[in-house]
Amino acid sequence: GEGISLTGVSKTYRGRGTEVEALRDLNLDCPEGSFTALIGPSGCGKSTALRISLGLESHDGGTVRVAGKTPAEATRSGLTGVAFQDAALLPWRSVRKNIALPLEVLRRDPRAHEEQIAGLIRLVGLDGYENALPGELSGGMRQRVAIARSLITAPQVLFLDEPFGALDQIRRRSMNVELQRIWLETGSTALLVTHGIDEAVFLADRVVVMHANPGRVVAVIDVPFERPRT
Ligand code: ADP
Ligand code: ADP
Repeated sequence: GEGISLTGVSKTYRGRGTEVEALRDLNLDCPEGSFTALIGPSGCGKSTALRISLGLESHDGGTVRVAGKTPAEATRSGLTGVAFQDAALLPWRSVRKNIALPLEVLRRDPRAHEEQIAGLIRLVGLDGYENALPGELSGGMRQRVAIARSLITAPQVLFLDEPFGALDQIRRRSMNVELQRIWLETGSTALLVTHGIDEAVFLADRVVVMHANPGRVVAVIDVPFERPRT
């Protein structure tokens, strides 16, 4: 499959007598296996670009391809995974059942994926917490559950919207180290939305800088750092 490409994408939100031009002629290319960080001021359209790439939001013009498919097709086929800032775990479901949720959405049998679920729990360091409820976990642990859940369909493309936004600086740092290890292990294409320039430069091959009013790409920075891809 291919990575992520948005070509000439425009998006205007229309409400009762109001219009917000969120994106104008946005071009964003994430080659297969790359890690791209998207940064820019609040309101410049980062989340909009991500939601469009996931098929959660329509766009007015331009072309979007994710793993060689339209966003809706890619999401329907389980080729994409996503982790949002607020973790968004279901509070009455155990860690194991939260991680299994995307399988149920895709109408796949979670019982046929027990080994994968156990492997992901190990990958994010939550052994022993399989049956814990989200309310029994720390913030960092909840966000690790969200990362595991985003990986359960073995997605080719991973979208991360401020996945550690709720954590303080020190915990973010340790989560970033974990996330990099996980990304190296899975070999997926990753697109990370973040406010943290440190985080962007640490994790990404390329940092894409957006500008607001309307949202567009104003700079692409290659991060010259050799990572041990497997
Ligand atoms: P960012 O993620 O960079 O903070 P967003 O993509 O959330 O930016 O927002 C881009 C612009 O679109 C902002 O002006 C925001 O107010 C507007 N916007 C985002 N979502 C909606 C929505 N559902 N309805 C109307 N306007 C929206
Ligand atoms: P991090 O974000 O680095 O995981 P946390 O503060 O979330 O940091 O957790 C640090 C460690 O403390 C966890 O890995 C876990 O082992 C332990 N821990 C935190 N909260 C709990 C809890 N509610 N129950 C049991 N252990 C916990």
